[in-house]
Formats: sequence, C-alpha cells, structure tokens
Amino acid sequence: GLASLWLKRQADWRVYEDVTARAWMERAVGKQAFDAFWGPLLRGKFAEHADEIGMAWLHWKIRLRFGSREGRLGAKETLGYPRGSFRSYYFALADHIREAGGRISLSTPVESVVTELGAVTGIRADGAFHEFDQVLMTTPNIITKRIAPDLPASYVEILDRVRYQWASCLVLALDRPLSDVYWLSIADDLPFVACVEHTNLVGAERYGGNHLVYLSNYVAPDHPVLQMDAEEALTAYEDSIRRINPAFDRSWVREKWFFRDPGGQPVITTNYSASIPSMETGIGGLYLSNTTQVYPEDRGQNYSLQLGEQAAELMDAGARAVAGARGARI
Ligand SMILES: Cc1cc2nc3c(=O)[nH]c(=O)nc-3n(C[C@H](O)[C@H](O)[C@H](O)COP(=O)(O)OP(=O)(O)OC[C@H]3O[C@@H](n4cnc5c(N)ncnc54)[C@H](O)[C@@H]3O)c2cc1C
Repeated sequence: GLASLWLKRQADWRVYEDVTARAWMERAVGKQAFDAFWGPLLRGKFAEHADEIGMAWLHWKIRLRFGSREGRLGAKETLGYPRGSFRSYYFALADHIREAGGRISLSTPVESVVTELGAVTGIRADGAFHEFDQVLMTTPNIITKRIAPDLPASYVEILDRVRYQWASCLVLALDRPLSDVYWLSIADDLPFVACVEHTNLVGAERYGGNHLVYLSNYVAPDHPVLQMDAEEALTAYEDSIRRINPAFDRSWVREKWFFRDPGGQPVITTNYSASIPSMETGIGGLYLSNTTQVYPEDRGQNYSLQLGEQAAELMDAGARAVAGARGARI
C-alpha cells in the first residue's frame, strides 16, 4: 500500500541499513498488516532468520519490484520467457568459450585450491593437480572455505559472517494442469513457499504435453526434507498440494525431480555491507565471486553476470600487474 509507494521513491538504501525489516514495517504498516502479509513473505524466504533481515534488502526489493511495473509512456510490464529456457543462453556461452580456446569440465568438483608462498598455483580436481596462475572461485562461502584452506583468517572471518538458507525445489511433470495460476506465493503454513506452474505461462505442448509444477522452499541446513529423495518429498508435500487442488492424485505424476542447493539464499541481516567479502581474497591470483556480494538487490542471474564482468576486469588488471612486475625485474 502506501508504505510500498513511499519506499519505491526512496533511492538511498543506506538509511535502512541498521534497522530490521520487521521493526521498520511494523512501524509503517502496523503489526496486523505485517503479520498478514510481510511477515509470512519474509518467513517463507528466511524461516527462523526472518526477524533478522535488514530493511535495506526489503526496501530495494520493493523499489525494484514496484518500479518495474511502471513503464514509460503508459507501457505495462510484461513477463517473458527465453525459448528453451536459460539453458540455451548458457549453452551458447559455453560454445563461445570453447571456440575461443577455453576448456569446460562439467561434473568435476574442485577438491582444493593449491597455493604457494601466498599465491595460487592451481587446483586439485579428479585426483590430479592442474596448474593455473589465476583462479576465480564462484562457490558459496561454505564451500569456498572448505576447498581453499589457505585463505587468510581475516578473510575467512568475513566469509563466516554470512549464513545461508538451503533452497529445495520439487519439480513435477503432470498429465494435467494442477491449477490455472502461474505463480502462487504461499503465506500459509505449507512445506513450500511457491507453487509455480510453468506451463500456465509457456504452453504444455512445448513439453510433450507435460504440465510442469515447481514447489520451492528455503530451509535451514538441518531440515529433514534435505535428506529426502523425490518420492519422499512428494509424499511429504501431497496433502499440501491438495490444498491447491483437492482432486490432485499421485497418478497424475508422470515424472518428478528434487533439487537442493546449499547456497540457495544468503541471509541478508542488518548492516550487511560489513559482511560482503571482497573479490580479492588476500592470496595472489585467487578471487571470489558469489551471491553474497549481491546487495542491496536480491540475488539473481543478472547481478551474477555483472559480478562476472567485474571479476574479469579485476583479474585482467591483476595479471597485467604481475606481468609488469616480472618485466620490471628482468
Ligand atoms: C530457488 C531459487 C530461485 C531462483 N530464481 C531466480 C530467477 O527466477 N531469476 C534469476 O535471475 N535468478 C534466480 N535465482 C538466483 C540464481 O540462481 C543465482 O543468482 C545464480 O545461480 C548465481 O550464480 P552463481 O554462478 O554465483 O552461483 P551458482 O549458480 O550457485 O553456481 C555455483 C556452482 O558451483 C558449483 N560447485 C559447488 N561446489 C563445487 C566444487 N567443489 N567445485 C566446482 N564447482 C562447485 C555448484 O554445483 C554450482 O553449479 C534463484 C535461486 C534460487 C535458489
């Protein structure tokens, strides 16, 4: 309502840095409206951390979300979907990298980052050492710490400031529609916070007649659902799916997949800017770029792409500086 209209026009997120979203919103809209709308939305994304979320994050989310609906010259916001999904974009990017002489190794986890005398020398993966003079880690902080044990203690202390909610997503391919709604945000006490029926945006005929439903949630790292497979998750969700369509039956499910992501959502607390790790890690040639560096915006692929460009520029400058120093010594 009025609070959103006001926030949309405020350009400086810094003034909201040291207040929680809950405290600010309760003052602005009242406890009743907060409990009915904003509280459940924050809890859906951040669960038990909801009361710690900084107002700067919520302010920016409202500003971008409501701002994008106001087109110029009366134009209206429209929802688009890239044909073939983002997969087409990333496959084209991969082709481009290969054509330029790059090599891409999929399903090859980095076991560790190797350093010598304060500078990176390469990585260990697939049981072998691979030499590199620069390494960019794009892993969440929790994994970064594990694979790069030589990071300076002061840098690890910053990585440790950010906690994560895991993301989970049960994807169902149904033989018929579940509902006629594309995106259903759920404020009730269900085991998922969004029910997105993709085929209500893009026709089911593009997916072999399957009706695709995503049931997504954010949960704490020790949540029992993270130990489940797709079959068990469907069993746990079944009654709640019937709250959306009471006729739902398991026999409608043609296929199902269950995805989990340990770095799904950084918890954006008050004064979060002090928790953002720099791209330079303190080890020569070793850089980090991940979603904890996206702020005050909510993390999204567009911001990750911007971070990628920044990291590339930084690494290029770093390589030139090293080459220059070597040249100077000769
Ligand atoms: C539920 C959910 C919904 C979202 N919806 C949207 C949306 O609608 N639009 C949007 O733009 N963004 C969305 N996002 C955000 C988007 O997914 C992220 O912003 C983006 O994926 C971040 O890119 P990244 O490369 O930094 O990290 P990631 O995409 O998380 O990539 C990190 C990669 O590191 C890999 N990895 C982990 N350990 C190792 C290891 N040891 N060695 C090598 N690799 C390793 C992981 O497998 C992963 O592939 C969503 C995120 C979630 C969780």
